[in-house]
Amino acid sequence: MSDPISQGLFERAQRVLPGGVNSPVRAFKAVGGNPVFIREARGPYIYGADGAEYVDYVGSWGPMILGHAEPSVIQSIARTAALGTSFGAPTEGEIKFAETLVAAVPSMEMVRCVSSGTEAVMGALRVARGFTGRDLIVKMEGGFHGGADYLLVKAGSGLATLGVPDSAGIPSDVAKVTLTIRFNDLADATKVFQEHGPRIAAIIVEPVAGNMGCVPPEPGYLEGLKKLSHEHGALLVFDEVMTGFRVAFGGAQARFGVSPDITTLAKVIGGGMPLGAYGARREIMSKIAPVGPVYQAGTLSGNPVAVQAGLATLEKLARPGVYEQLEENSARVEKAFQDAAKKHGVPLTVQRVGSMLTPFFTGGPVRSWDEASKCDTAAFGRVHQSLIAQHIYWPPSQFEAGFVSTTHDEGTLQRLESALDNAFKNV
Ligand code: PLP
Repeated sequence: MSDPISQGLFERAQRVLPGGVNSPVRAFKAVGGNPVFIREARGPYIYGADGAEYVDYVGSWGPMILGHAEPSVIQSIARTAALGTSFGAPTEGEIKFAETLVAAVPSMEMVRCVSSGTEAVMGALRVARGFTGRDLIVKMEGGFHGGADYLLVKAGSGLATLGVPDSAGIPSDVAKVTLTIRFNDLADATKVFQEHGPRIAAIIVEPVAGNMGCVPPEPGYLEGLKKLSHEHGALLVFDEVMTGFRVAFGGAQARFGVSPDITTLAKVIGGGMPLGAYGARREIMSKIAPVGPVYQAGTLSGNPVAVQAGLATLEKLARPGVYEQLEENSARVEKAFQDAAKKHGVPLTVQRVGSMLTPFFTGGPVRSWDEASKCDTAAFGRVHQSLIAQHIYWPPSQFEAGFVSTTHDEGTLQRLESALDNAFKNV
């Protein structure tokens, strides 16, 4: 249960905001209870409306890899904002930002900046269609790529079939341009290309799935997707909105050594400000207006304040030892879940790649959405409620990843360990 002040705010919010929130998962519907309203945040801590301190493992769903209100990022934002917050005209900061991204991410020679992950994905897939002259997109069951109509689809009857809408308000004809296959299943990918190959523009995949909980790619899977898509004249798009600069400085493509044709980025690259980007080799990016025929634009694209927040974040992340430290901190969080589950005899599979991880309430490994969906979500809900009561702020869904920042330390770890011990007692 959230504190009385948050509960009052939630009641007030529900009168003017659908469900009291501006993005559905914030409403805690998957775990029961009401959301904690946040007053402020610093380092690994967030402070609820009543001022209570929580150890935060949500990290704004990924961006806050340096912890909250990192001084160098805040100074950059303040300094830049004082010079004007938006010009709708090019700035030098955008060039520096683009140079930093292309230097870090192996497959990108050019980028286009936008304002969110959703927009990055929409731009990337439009250019994939413009480049190939084809219409169909293949996505993974359980994969999430933001709010575009043609990506809010689920599989029709049987996999490798044309999608059907997964939200009201999406025309069934729009959903039909998307095909859905099982993650980590190359046979399914082969089948979709056999059936629809000449019409497929691109496969889009989170190289480490994060939106069904954290599911790493099986060895050879990403390489297999690349081979298949290229054999059939399609492009491979890595949606690195979550994994970019999270699982390694150069993203999952650097960590796993597989380069996609197009990459989408957001979250970490904006340092907590609204900023996304998509990038690829020059040949593909040259299709985008004003150079090429693929139109894509945005009033706030490459916003000067967001770009400086991103640059300050990336500068800190580029320092030696940062990802090693994140790996170490995160391994201890993983172990804390494993130890509590073992001690109390709860079937649990913890999956982690770098500083993103999910404790799945199931005994076996989770390789795809059909395996994730079999988890004991009620048990997860009970643990979540207990963690919130003990002021550990974990993502309020079994099918999300928790995120560790560079500011999580021995103190936060000990608080997590003792809270987990209590939480798993009563699963
Ligand atoms: N792609 C992935 C992999 C995501 O995890 C998300 C958001 O969680 C998006 C795209 C959409 O990004 P945004 O919420 O910035 O629009």
